[in-house]
Amino acid sequence: MKITEEDIRPEKVFDEYLRLTAADTITYFSDVEKIEIPCPACGGNEGKDWVKKSLFLYKKCPSCHTIYVSPRPVVESFNTYYTDSPSTKFWASTFYKVTEIARREKLWKPKAKLVKEKITALGTENPINYIVDIGGGYGVFDEEIKIIMDVDVIVIEPSVHLAEICRNKGLTVIEKFMEEVDKFELPIGRKCFVSFELFEHLHNPEKFLITVFENMEVDDLFIFTTLSGMGIDIQLLGSQSKALSPPHHLNFFNPKSITLLLEKIGYKVFEANTPGKLDMDILNKNKSAINDIYWKNVFDYFSKNDLDNLQNCISNLGLSSHMMIVCAK
Ligand SMILES: [Zn+2]
Repeated sequence: MKITEEDIRPEKVFDEYLRLTAADTITYFSDVEKIEIPCPACGGNEGKDWVKKSLFLYKKCPSCHTIYVSPRPVVESFNTYYTDSPSTKFWASTFYKVTEIARREKLWKPKAKLVKEKITALGTENPINYIVDIGGGYGVFDEEIKIIMDVDVIVIEPSVHLAEICRNKGLTVIEKFMEEVDKFELPIGRKCFVSFELFEHLHNPEKFLITVFENMEVDDLFIFTTLSGMGIDIQLLGSQSKALSPPHHLNFFNPKSITLLLEKIGYKVFEANTPGKLDMDILNKNKSAINDIYWKNVFDYFSKNDLDNLQNCISNLGLSSHMMIVCAK
């Protein structure tokens, strides 16, 4: 089944979400303390202004190409925003309901299959006993992975509302932020930690990766997905890219810069690549916003089949905006 952006982000509903978000950005972030931060991947201090979007300035690190929000509002402002804001409520209720079936079929089922493939491909003798899903949300991935793998699932989910939904699905839930979880709360047995579309939201990505590392035993796996700042749609659309959505998306690492940070912490990185499939679809829909003449022409000139070939090529080269990382302790 071919996925289009419309299936998982229906334009009208998504635009309403973006409208609410823009209003919330003013409410929750216009009058808060902001702190200048170094590149969250390599620690470089020379970030160059890249794009300004509403109240947020995205910088780009000239040495590792990571894109990141700096100055960054203090963490308390994000906690208030995520706990109780109109756009967060809209996402959790209206937006999610409208897209739930499509998301299960087109995102979560393939993701569960892909995670199983990655685990199987590593072919260690010791099987995985537990999947620990950090920020598990509605638990759809966890329902799907249980169908195709012989594992128990633990969801780490700080939202009261979402934790309740997961428990009602029969999933084991630790109702906390990952940073608050104690190692003894996790069962003994080999684990694969996973987190999807969470990393780009994190106020302090390095702290998060260290916490996960400390909760892992040697040989445990960590598989996660996030947005890559080297993604072609993000690069070509710049400020017009809907992926650049403050206050949600603060960090856009790329396959090289995420590897750098993971290895610094002590992770063994097996792969950091971009299996994304939506870039051409996103660009084609937004071609009027592309400034580059060459790429504008590409979208007028190429057939649908050509664009599919180009998408495969871009994914294989690590230049899609959807990135997946497989690593271990
Ligand atoms: Zn950097």
